[in-house]
Amino acid sequence: MSQSQGTADGGQTLTGAVEQKPTNLNVGSKGRNGNLLIDFEFDYFVSMGFGYWSYSTIRERRWLLDPIGPEHTGRKCLVLDLDETLVHSSFKLIQQADFVVPVEIESQIHNVYVIKRPGVDHFLKKMGELYEIVVFTASLSKYADPVLDMLDIHRVVKHRLFRESCYNHKGNYVKDLSQIGRELKDTIIIDNSPASYFFHPTNAVPISSWFNDPHDTELLDLIPFLEDLTTVEDVMMVLDCSNEEPQREEIEE
Ligand SMILES: [Mg+2]
Repeated sequence: MSQSQGTADGGQTLTGAVEQKPTNLNVGSKGRNGNLLIDFEFDYFVSMGFGYWSYSTIRERRWLLDPIGPEHTGRKCLVLDLDETLVHSSFKLIQQADFVVPVEIESQIHNVYVIKRPGVDHFLKKMGELYEIVVFTASLSKYADPVLDMLDIHRVVKHRLFRESCYNHKGNYVKDLSQIGRELKDTIIIDNSPASYFFHPTNAVPISSWFNDPHDTELLDLIPFLEDLTTVEDVMMVLDCSNEEPQREEIEE
């Protein structure tokens, strides 16, 4: 969200920091949605000719995502941020807005003006052919859900995760990829905010924050690299934020 133009995340204060700075939500302690996975672990010991169960534990884990669907079996998972990665939104009137989303805040309806990053339609269509697509945003669902309804014209976004699925780490909304229920070696996140992938920098493809530059080409520029990433055994061996450009060139050769 724009620092100067306010945010559409439904926070009490319309300042740009709310996408990353929790206000009154302690999201880290909240329960997570998703399916229930039960790990049943046991050890079987034989001693003195007698067999007995030494212990058994039932461990519950709740992943953020449902199990991968049959249509996406074998695909890697592409996690996309929303604001300033795919779109920019503002409470202030944007004449060239691609769409307007009404959001209720404290019993009042506010219009949110949304502009799409150049190339986002083509980018989503191509990525939807290659990956299981997740949009993971630190914004609230009452804003992000209707935005995605309008943005996802090719219906490629399989899962939507909102603020309550973020982890509050020292005041930042971190997107903890270890909780989504996909193998990290097969998971990639694209996010304009490095704090979002603080726990998993080697799963990240950085992208600049986009507000309104009509000449921006970053989404389209990423397509060949992301096409190549579908073929690697372990994305973490390729993605390294501290040395991103040389790594990207290597894989494109
Ligand atoms: Mg963002």
